Order: sequence, then C-alpha cells, then structure tokens
Amino acid sequence: MLGFAAPHYWIQGCLFALLLSSSLSASARDITLGVLAWRDAEAIETTLEPTLIALRNQLPDHVFEVEFLPLAELEQAVAEGRVDFVMTNPGHYVQLNDRYSVSPIATLQAPDLDPPLQVVGSVVVTLAQADSIQDWTDLKDRRIGAVSADAFGGFQLVRDKLERAGLNVQRDIGQWVFTGFPMENLIQILDEGQVDAIILRSCLLESLAREGKLVQSDYRPVIDLQLPNHPCWVSTPLYPDWPFLQLGTTDPHLARQVLQVLLQVQVETPQGVAYKWAAPLSYRPVYDVFERLRLGPFAAFPLNPFAAFVHQYRFWLLGLMLFMLLGFMHHLRAEYLVRRRTRELDQSLKEQRQAEAAAHQRQSELLHLSRFALMGELAAGLAHELNQPLTAIVNYANGCYRYLNTPQAADFEHRDKLLQASELIAAQGEQAGSIIKNLRAFLRKETPNTEVIALHPLLVEALEFMQASFRQHQVELDYSPCPPDWLIQGDRVQLLQILVNLLANAVDAMQAQPQRRLSLRVTEIQDRVAIHVIDTGVGIPKAIESHLFDPFFTTKPEGMGLGLRLSQTLAEAHHGQLMLHDHPAGGAEALLILPGFKGPTENANDR
Ligand code: ADP
Repeated sequence: MLGFAAPHYWIQGCLFALLLSSSLSASARDITLGVLAWRDAEAIETTLEPTLIALRNQLPDHVFEVEFLPLAELEQAVAEGRVDFVMTNPGHYVQLNDRYSVSPIATLQAPDLDPPLQVVGSVVVTLAQADSIQDWTDLKDRRIGAVSADAFGGFQLVRDKLERAGLNVQRDIGQWVFTGFPMENLIQILDEGQVDAIILRSCLLESLAREGKLVQSDYRPVIDLQLPNHPCWVSTPLYPDWPFLQLGTTDPHLARQVLQVLLQVQVETPQGVAYKWAAPLSYRPVYDVFERLRLGPFAAFPLNPFAAFVHQYRFWLLGLMLFMLLGFMHHLRAEYLVRRRTRELDQSLKEQRQAEAAAHQRQSELLHLSRFALMGELAAGLAHELNQPLTAIVNYANGCYRYLNTPQAADFEHRDKLLQASELIAAQGEQAGSIIKNLRAFLRKETPNTEVIALHPLLVEALEFMQASFRQHQVELDYSPCPPDWLIQGDRVQLLQILVNLLANAVDAMQAQPQRRLSLRVTEIQDRVAIHVIDTGVGIPKAIESHLFDPFFTTKPEGMGLGLRLSQTLAEAHHGQLMLHDHPAGGAEALLILPGFKGPTENANDR
C-alpha cells in the first residue's frame, strides 16, 4: 500500500535542529520529531514554527530535530526507533497503530478555521467550466488525480464515499493518476487537463488561494456539503485532524513535558497559518472508514463479496424481500381462505346429512305412528263390529241355558252337559265382549276401571288362559304362589292382557329351545310389587334391546310388533313400569312393576 508514496519527495530536514542546537549545552539530549511531508517543506515549516519555538524555549535541556518524511520513510523511521514523536495524518496513524506502539497525546487544531475545529475532510475539485460533473456518479469512467492510494484525506475518504455511492473504485473509475506529495502537484495536472477531477485535503485549495498560488474561482467542488461553521469546500464528512503521537519507547516524563508545551503553543503569526494543539480527539470514526474499506488493521478481514453485494443492491434486495413477503402473505391468506371454505363446506355437508337422517327418522316414526293409529282405527272398527255378534252369542247362549232349565227340556239327553256348555259359552262370550269393550275404551283413551284386585288369583287366571299353549309347547311351569294378601289396583282385564302377552312372548321365545321352563315370581319392592316372567328362550340380543318397545318391532315371521308396546302403555296407565332384558341364567326376564299393598282379601275382586 505504501508503495504509492513518492520517494523523490523525501526531505531530510535538519534545519530546525541546527537553528536550535546553537543555544544548547553539551548535556542536551536529542529529540527527533518525524513529520509527514504532505506539502512542500516551506509550507510545513511555517505552520510548525510556533510549536518548535515553544518546545525549544520551554524544554531547553533538549535538542529538537525535525525530519520531513513521506509515508513509507516515516514508517521506516518509527520501525527503527529513529523518532521520538510523530505528526502524521489520521489514516496513517491508524496504520502505524496497527503495527507499532503509538498513541496520540494531542490533536492538531486546523489553522484555517474560525472557530478552529479539529477536523479534516476531502474535497473533489474540477475546473470551474467542467459542468458535466455534478455528482459522485458523474465520476464514473472519469480520470481522477490523487496524491497516493494511502493518503487519508487525499484519497481514502473519497474512496469511502464513492463506494457508498455504489461505485467500484477499481472498475468504475476510468483512470487513477497518483502524483505523490506535495498535494499541489494535483492542481497542475488538473490545469493541464490530464485528469477530470482531483482529490484534495479540505482547506488546502483555500490556503493556496490565500498564498496567491491559484485563483479559487477557476475551480469548483464536484460536491460541496456546505457544512455549518466550516469555511472550506468539503465533499466528505469531517474527521479528527492530525494527531501528535508519542511512541511506546518515548520517555513518559518527556512526553508529559512535550504535551504541556503543545497545549500552551501561542500563535503569533497571522491567523490561519500556524498550528495549535488541543487534547486528543477520538479517532474511532477513522477506524470506521478503515473498517469499511478493509484497510490497515482491517485488511486481514477479507471483504465479504456477499456482504458487499448485499450492501450494493440493498434497496433492490429490500424491494425483492418485500415483494416475496407480500407474495408469501398472499399465499398464506389464500390458503387460509381455502381451508375455511372447505371447513364450512364440510360442516354444511355434515349438517345436511344429519338433517336428512333426522328427517328420515321422523318420517319412519311418523309412518309407524300412522300405521299404529290406523291399527287403532281398525281395531276400534273391528271391536264395534264384533260387539254385536258377541252380544248375540251371549244372548243365544243365555237363551239356550234358560230353555234347557224349563220343564219341556227336562228329558233332553245330555241336558246337564248342554247346560254347562251354554253357561261356558255365555261366560267366554262375556269375557270376549269385555276385552273388546276395554280395547275400545283404550283406543278412545278412556281411563281404565280401577278396582282392588288380589294378585294371586289374577296370576292364576292368566296362567289358565295360557294353559293350552303351555301344553302344546311342553312348557314346564314354575309358579311360586304369592302371598294371598297382596293386592293391586287397576283394570283386571287390562292387567290380564299384559300378563297373557308376557307369557305368550315367553312361550314363543322358547319354541326352538330344547329346555322350555317358565318361572313366574312375585317380589315386593317398597310399596310396589314386581312380577317376574322368566323364560329359557333365545334371550334379548343387545342390538334389539332398545327397540323392543317400538311399535311394530318384531323378530317373528308372523309377529305384529304391538304386544310389548300395548303392554307398556297399559302398565304406564296403571302407574307401573314394564321392562324386558336378558336373564343371567339364559333367556329373558320380563318385569312388570305395579303399585301394590297388603290388605284383607274380602275387599278384593277375585273374578
Ligand atoms: P310380537 O307380536 O312381534 O311378538 P311383541 O311386542 O310382543 O311383538 O314383541 C316384540 C319382540 O320382542 C318380539 O318379536 C321378540 O323379538 C322380542 N321379545 C319379546 N318377548 C321376548 C322374550 N321373552 N324373549 C325373547 N324375545 C322377546
């Protein structure tokens, strides 16, 4: 990097040493101050004069020697320990600090500024008439002059700005022309048209104009930031001015003495020419520039091409990311809407299916009920029609009975048997008539006749009704007679209907079974009686258990599916309950529970 420095501008300046040494004693110690020769020796000497005079006057025990050196030689002198103090530009300080032990004890106070600001920047200057260059990007493909690629205010600050403006200093600039120090050389090549623009340290052009070396209006800044309180053209941000450095090997006591002198330097030369010193500023911003440009201490960190690419195209990338984000959000939204719609459709399909199933269920229930009602109508009509013939049968039977009792019939053969038969015909006819009457009353929703009935005779009567069927199917009957004082209240015929129904179902269920045994038991549950009809039939499969009491539910080829339903309705009309379930011993158990009580049987109606 330092190879860009111009070696021909190597100044071995011992002028001031000679000037000062004459007044020093033989014991005086030599102190060497290395100064970066950024301008011609005369200009630098003028600016440094008050400083050196102050040092000479206030530290008479020392001989001060000043060496004006270009960048490379100044570093060489530091490396060899030939200098005790160094004055150089901030960029060079950062580079020196990377390799040697150097620390700033003061920062230069620029001579041109009022108020003096401890800052330095760069300005890109072109000829006043060259109005085609107005912006950083106009420097693309142009020829640009600078002192050295290592110069801080003379090159690197502008490079930083160019790269931040998206220009690559290697590829995008037409040609770089490096003249070496002094910086005034650049004015000459710009005037001669060798370059289109030059990079100067800020305020140099104004100094040269003051010194009468050029006319400022012949030039113009490509960019002027017009910073407040800054009287010079400036194209870049401002950074701390030159540091006055002590080396690691410098005697600390001496460094303290020098610092005290520096802070007290009085400028007696005309304002704007000589240097003064102030407490050191932070050089952090300079480090930041070096870090961005991967220079000096940051050169070891290779510039990440990916990061550089990202930086260069950051706005496009941001736009792309935003576009992708919007696309992604649109995709998410579309997916969400599709899912919601699918869910809604599923839900409405489900609801529709449920509604259809419910409608179907209602329809079949309705169908059953209407068939049930029709059945009721039919039964009512049938009962009405049968009532007449039954009455006639009973009347005729009674007529026969009465006739057989008259003297004319006294000689009839088998008269007694005929009397008994006509008595039985009349009794059975009356029984059938009362069943039909009850059925009609039931269908008319009439409240049942209530009478106190002894339970045991009622059960016996029901068993008698079923006697023929038991015999026909060889059913073994097991009846444990219930206590005679157990009474129930209700309609005897309806209660008989229930019992006969349960017994008939039990016989049906046992038909195909090898063993056919029917048990009839009565138990007491608080103020109720429970009549158990237990068979050894096929039992109740779980699947049909809940449908047993549905109207028209039957598993028999000839069945009507009304028996249990009718029995349940009758049981409920008696404030009772009817249940049918599987019996643990096999077969089924029908359970009829009715309100019951105990009492004298005289009050009970046996027949
Ligand atoms: P059905 O006249 O068809 O027999 P029910 O209402 O009397 O009508 O009975 C309905 C159904 O209940 C029968 O078809 C039969 O499947 C079942 N069932 C009734 N009692 C019994 C029983 N004791 N054992 C097994 N199944 C029975």
